[in-house]
Amino acid sequence: MMFWDYKYLLFVMLPGLLLGLWAQWRLHAAFGKFSQVPVESGLTGAQAARRILDSAGLTGVPVAEVEGRLTDHYDPTKRALFLSTDNYHGNSVAAVGVAAHESGHALQHQAAYAMLDLRMALVPITNFASTIYGAILLLGWIMGMMKFMLPVVIVVFGVITLFQLITLPVEFDASRRAKEQLFRLGLVRESERAGVAQVLDAAALTYVAALVGSLLTLLYYITAARNRN
Ligand SMILES: [Zn+2]
Repeated sequence: MMFWDYKYLLFVMLPGLLLGLWAQWRLHAAFGKFSQVPVESGLTGAQAARRILDSAGLTGVPVAEVEGRLTDHYDPTKRALFLSTDNYHGNSVAAVGVAAHESGHALQHQAAYAMLDLRMALVPITNFASTIYGAILLLGWIMGMMKFMLPVVIVVFGVITLFQLITLPVEFDASRRAKEQLFRLGLVRESERAGVAQVLDAAALTYVAALVGSLLTLLYYITAARNRN
């Protein structure tokens, strides 16, 4: 059975898992460090986001607090920005950096940035693919029909991987816009730039790790399908 195949565990699962853990550890380390460093301006994440949005004319985009840790996100359907409690109230380099990044997504939306539009368009089909993916694997395994299921698995998992691929430029671009606005509006000092960059780069790395893990898995499915033909 393919899921007990040692090659799958050794060459696909393990590197993907290690890369993901390493990325999480880097993010944890960067956050741990820069959530302790206050910005000289004294601005909270919420205030920094407000300043960036207002300066772009996005006065109608609310900045709200959301529960949880690192649950920060911009919701394009609501045209609203949500910051986790720590980043909403915090005035650290990490909090301001994350708030600026989420504001960057709002700026993308305003600018009708093509990759964000594409990503939004793919949300329904990706949600559907994520929902049925586990069921298809389980069904193929229980019925011993993985051989026939593989093409479906490849298409479904391919959709999920494509979504992760399109997420990358969206995330990098949001961070680029964030840094640009933070420095242009003087919300962080010259000496704080490196810290902001470290936090945002560490966050971006988790998306890269997730994509690499998925590409390895997809490659494994494709190889398995070819070997069975
Ligand atoms: Zn983002």
